[in-house]
Amino acid sequence: MLGFLARERSCGGSGGVTGGAAFSGPSSEDVRASGPRTGGEGRWHAGRVPELPEVETVRRGLEPLVVGRRIVDGWGHPSAKFAAARDAVGPRVEAVGRRGKYLLVDLDDRRQLVVHLGMTGQLRLRSGPDVDPYVRAWWALDDGGVLELRDVRRFGRVAVVPAEEWAALPTLAAQGPEPWDPELDDDGLWRRLRRSRVHVKTQLLSQRPIAGVGNIYADEALWRAGIHPARRTVTKAQAARLLAELRTVLEHGIANGGTTLRDYRTVDGGEGRNQLELGCYGRAGLPCLRCGTELRRIVLDARGTTLCPTCQPRR
Ligand SMILES: [Zn+2]
Repeated sequence: MLGFLARERSCGGSGGVTGGAAFSGPSSEDVRASGPRTGGEGRWHAGRVPELPEVETVRRGLEPLVVGRRIVDGWGHPSAKFAAARDAVGPRVEAVGRRGKYLLVDLDDRRQLVVHLGMTGQLRLRSGPDVDPYVRAWWALDDGGVLELRDVRRFGRVAVVPAEEWAALPTLAAQGPEPWDPELDDDGLWRRLRRSRVHVKTQLLSQRPIAGVGNIYADEALWRAGIHPARRTVTKAQAARLLAELRTVLEHGIANGGTTLRDYRTVDGGEGRNQLELGCYGRAGLPCLRCGTELRRIVLDARGTTLCPTCQPRR
């Protein structure tokens, strides 16, 4: 059973940045992946990108399994997106953190293993023999466990960087504050949203005003806050409502173990439960739970978007 561990070996500890150049913005991944354009976002990948609650759920599942363990072997698919996986071999895992949608595995040689799940990435402990063709990277631990990254569509990324030095990962480095950052207040979100005139939902998806929000939680929060996603400016009062609702929907998502629409799985292979509690996202054609108006689906900057024309006036 351990034969596969010797497939490729590498020494870690170089301290250099590896794999970083291949990182790209999570906000554009599922758009680029949509293939031939047929009038906007294809239904098959809508909402498939793990967002903050899904990544946080993975982080919490991973933490007790890997902290304190030494990475004794590793392998990455020989593409620029995954090859850096083997550079994490050698050190011990000190902590598992998260920034936005990025997992940050702190290594005890002052480096970080950065993992972005992309659209279809799943992290799990290997349960059987190495026969899954969609595994793009794995790390063998000193307790015999093997952590593997399965990623059917290969929009995930792996990098090993000096701790907290993310210059080589521009999307990670440019992210706005975490939603619960005590320094992010109503006024702060309002000022951040004022920096750009693109549609407010598109701004949220850019990760710059606030980290971790994707299509599902943006639709939910904007609906709850009564803000049309295509607004280009918001008032201070709207920004305050939006921040409160973003925090609410993200906290709810975490409490529910994330939203599983298709690919997202927890570390133990389970599904989240938040999909059962969405009020807006994915409910186009159904009555608004607040006012009864039929929810509409529009395509906004190439992203499928659900809204209530009554609760979220355009003006
Ligand atoms: Zn409504």
